[in-house]
Amino acid sequence: MNSEGRVKGRVQSPEKRVKNFLEVELGYNKEEALKEASRCLQCKNPRCVTGCPVNIRIPEFIHAIKEDNLELAYEIIKSSSSLPAVCGRVCPQERQCESMCVRGLKGDAIAIGALERYVADYALENNLVETKKIKKNGKKVAIVGSGPSGLTCAGELAKNGFDVTIYEVLQKAGGVLTYGIPEFRLPKRIVESEVNNLIKLGVTIKTDVPVGNAITLDTLEKEYDAVFIGSGAGLPKFMGIEGESANGVFSANEILTRINLMKAYESNSKTPIKKGKVAYIIGGGNVAMDAVRSVKRLGSEAHLMYRRSEEELPARKMEVMHAKEEGIIFDTLLNPKRILTDENNNVVGMEVVNMELLPEVEGQRREVKEVEGSEHVVNCDMVVMALGTSPNHGSLKGSNIKITDKGLILVDGTKTSLKNVYAGGDAVTGSATVILAMEAGKKAAKEIIESFNK
Ligand SMILES: Cc1cc2nc3c(=O)[nH]c(=O)nc-3n(C[C@H](O)[C@H](O)[C@H](O)COP(=O)(O)OP(=O)(O)OC[C@H]3O[C@@H](n4cnc5c(N)ncnc54)[C@H](O)[C@@H]3O)c2cc1C
Repeated sequence: MNSEGRVKGRVQSPEKRVKNFLEVELGYNKEEALKEASRCLQCKNPRCVTGCPVNIRIPEFIHAIKEDNLELAYEIIKSSSSLPAVCGRVCPQERQCESMCVRGLKGDAIAIGALERYVADYALENNLVETKKIKKNGKKVAIVGSGPSGLTCAGELAKNGFDVTIYEVLQKAGGVLTYGIPEFRLPKRIVESEVNNLIKLGVTIKTDVPVGNAITLDTLEKEYDAVFIGSGAGLPKFMGIEGESANGVFSANEILTRINLMKAYESNSKTPIKKGKVAYIIGGGNVAMDAVRSVKRLGSEAHLMYRRSEEELPARKMEVMHAKEEGIIFDTLLNPKRILTDENNNVVGMEVVNMELLPEVEGQRREVKEVEGSEHVVNCDMVVMALGTSPNHGSLKGSNIKITDKGLILVDGTKTSLKNVYAGGDAVTGSATVILAMEAGKKAAKEIIESFNK
């Protein structure tokens, strides 16, 4: 077995990138991609494919890269994944396809994500879109939300002859891909190109339409043959501690939306953001990592406060590494107790407490407890809560659709309790991943198609 390690992709230097919002990872060039592709062992029973939630035929597309046939490579990926330029960048490959790669047993797994991105970027740059003539079937489907679940469902249905209209409450399509994940991880031009490809397929996207207010689910049910709800999980959680309503306390969602969607960091922004001198981001997942790295780029001294130890951080290792290179200060085993304010209700600091890990219990996440008497104060003027989100079911207003006791839309497969209404993505699972939302959108499309073929 060739023991050569993975070809490293080029990145913007940390000194440069903390001063801009441009993409950190620059992707492979042709020479690098060919070299990395040649490390693939082309296994007869490819474990990597089983590790991919949408079962992309990975060895086949890598083989096509080796043959320098990027059109074929793109066709292979596209037959399973509708947003490859997105997935190549943000999928947690190290826990999925790459974790199953045989090469990873004794060295570095193949950089499947980076190769997927290489092919998808080539396709976007060279405008490779599907041009197959689509025969319309006369059926109309409405989709609530334009995140990865809604976009995928829309694409699959449009390819099968349905007239699809997406209703999106925000001014731009893309869901978390547009308003959540920062430009330095997922450039918005990539999301826009993917959305434009759908429009070329004939999908109509109506933005600035809050379903539940401007139009009700009931009306959509009457006007369309089927409805798919992919409204995500955009409602931020807070800790419920003293001082959380002070000026200078934000949710990660708000900070990221203002930065990504409203470009609040630009000097001529109509909605400028307060830039903290010292900011604490509370949490340890990918959202916390995105928020802390964004705040750093605004010029703050940026701290990440996490109640467990670094080993338990749920964020991707790669994001943690990038954050460290960028000078983010990691304050682990620490938790806020209350936020301190001045007479004008501005944040001036935080009372925090040290935490300690409890003994490990097999199969469970390590629990923590406060270290008695370790309370102390840290100075700061900005606090960002990145503690997770839950679904906001505004679109369901007035309907009697069934919800689980965890506040998620109840489904059987992707069918909800209402006839001809389907749902998927974070609104059904709670916060998860892009690829799982896409998988749900694809599954719903399949079920909708089947319901009309009966
Ligand atoms: C900051 C951040 C970083 C993340 N990073 C990653 C990552 O690196 N990798 C990864 O795999 N996953 C990541 N995730 C998770 C991933 O983005 C989500 O799991 C995924 O976007 C869920 O897709 P969705 O289609 O279900 O919902 P969403 O992407 O949330 O889209 C839902 C859409 O519905 C719209 N909507 C809601 N209510 C209404 C209404 N009433 N009327 C009309 N429209 C409505 C919303 O505005 C939104 O556009 C991240 C999440 C966040 C917040």
